Amino acid sequence: MSATTMETAVTATAPEPMIKADAVRKSYGQLEVLKGIDLQVARGEVVCLIGPSGSGKSTLLRCMNHLESIEGGRMWVDGKVMGYDIKGSKLHEQPHAKVCRSRTEIGMVFQHFNLFPHMTVLENLIEAPRLVLKESRAAASNRAMVLLDSVGLADKAKAYPRQLSGGQQQRVAIARALCMKPKVMLFDEPTSALDPELVGEVLKVMKDLAATGMTMVVVTHEMNFARDVADRVVFMDNGHVVESGPAKDVIGNPQHERTRAFLASVL
Ligand code: ADP
Ligand code: MG
Repeated sequence: MSATTMETAVTATAPEPMIKADAVRKSYGQLEVLKGIDLQVARGEVVCLIGPSGSGKSTLLRCMNHLESIEGGRMWVDGKVMGYDIKGSKLHEQPHAKVCRSRTEIGMVFQHFNLFPHMTVLENLIEAPRLVLKESRAAASNRAMVLLDSVGLADKAKAYPRQLSGGQQQRVAIARALCMKPKVMLFDEPTSALDPELVGEVLKVMKDLAATGMTMVVVTHEMNFARDVADRVVFMDNGHVVESGPAKDVIGNPQHERTRAFLASVL
């Protein structure tokens, strides 16, 4: 079946989750990092991904965003194939342009904010909408200012990243991702690099975003955020999803010994 036919078939079975991972496998050389991940994220759902360092959380996010190819299984985002087993298949040739377009619909926020240092905050926000979405400067700037306001930084539009605190830079990074009108937002430990007193302002912005109905996958060690905001918590260890469920169950009453051991180390 061609990739186009397959995508059509997948779309036809709606309602579908926003993200679907089906037996996803990923290796770096001999090291198998994802060992058959099954995961679904519904539209509007907020999922917190927790687990020890090295368990594969960042790799899984990168596979969702097609920053990594996968060796087994399938990954769909919004009904589109974002990753697939390329062995013995020509699937990887056809959908690449679509994958690139789909990637613009997925916002990603990293631990290190990765703002362009030589651009003002506003220029950081309008760069991709202008270049990728071909928006006019005026249209992009208007939306950027609304989004800057929503993260409490409208007065910093003309500042350079180095003039901002880490928490402010991360809020700019979130606004920048939102400027691309994403359908999904992926966060990879967005507060891990911040001084403790700056964590709250970033989590508040993320909580506000969740309240708008945005679909979010958040890798975090902030268990209070997971408890307050996540619809579901997924615990990963050693390339497997070990446990998944409402935060009150996974964090409050974990069923697996490995989950208990991990929580004991972070709580
Ligand atoms: P986590 O985000 O849960 O800490 P990662 O997904 O970053 O875990 O990493 C999972 C495993 O994959 C680790 O053993 C890590 O060293 C390895 N790994 C991650 N990225 C690469 C890479 N680009 N090349 C080789 N190994 C990698
Ligand atoms: Mg990581």
